[in-house]
Amino acid sequence: MKRGRLFILSGPSGVGKGTIRTRLFEKVAGLVYSISCTTRRPREGEIDGVQYRFLDDTTFDSYVSENHFLEWARVHDHRYGTLREDVEAQLSAGNPVVLEIDVQGALQVKEKMPESVMIFILPPSLRELEKRLFGRGTEEKEMVRTRLRNAEAELALSGQYDYAVVNDQVERAASELAEIFMKEMNRS
Ligand code: ADP
Ligand code: 5GP
Repeated sequence: MKRGRLFILSGPSGVGKGTIRTRLFEKVAGLVYSISCTTRRPREGEIDGVQYRFLDDTTFDSYVSENHFLEWARVHDHRYGTLREDVEAQLSAGNPVVLEIDVQGALQVKEKMPESVMIFILPPSLRELEKRLFGRGTEEKEMVRTRLRNAEAELALSGQYDYAVVNDQVERAASELAEIFMKEMNRS
């Protein structure tokens, strides 16, 4: 069985990763989304096991010490991690897997799995990013500021990625992303 390809999507909070990923999954059949673990609290409407596996600190600690994570990182004051076994099982079954993770986690994965495809989602401008983050209305003002501060550090690392896609318009960006996926899936 041919191993599936591993795709990593990163980009600052509020850039539209979740939005264009949803369109990507409608355009490209057979992609598997890796559901991350996090210690942050669920937002309104988020369901445990759907958007994330919501863990308390003690459980997260035990997963770290038992080496369950392919990668994990502290992002915006909380911890987030990808479960190794889930990803491995899907890749071994030949399925393409999508991780939506931050830059620290992405670099950890690339080191362990250099054949993975790293794609960075860029905002058209920092001003537009701010507008989207405030517009989404899911975080307190202070948390939005933290996320905007972190955005600049994340953007500085975008040059380490294999591809960069500007999310100017959802449909255009999702089409560009779908083309990258098709190209890379045919290559393997
Ligand atoms: P992320 O997953 O990167 O944190 P979201 O997908 O939650 O970002 O998008 C953040 C906000 O920006 C949402 O309110 C979403 O509807 C909006 N958004 C996403 N893409 C665009 C776009 N191309 N133009 C305008 N608004 C967008
Ligand atoms: P949010 O709290 O808005 O859902 O996500 C905040 C940030 O955490 C995003 O930039 C997202 O990419 C990142 N993130 C989500 N899951 C993971 C993960 O499993 N590992 C790492 N390193 N980052 C993650």
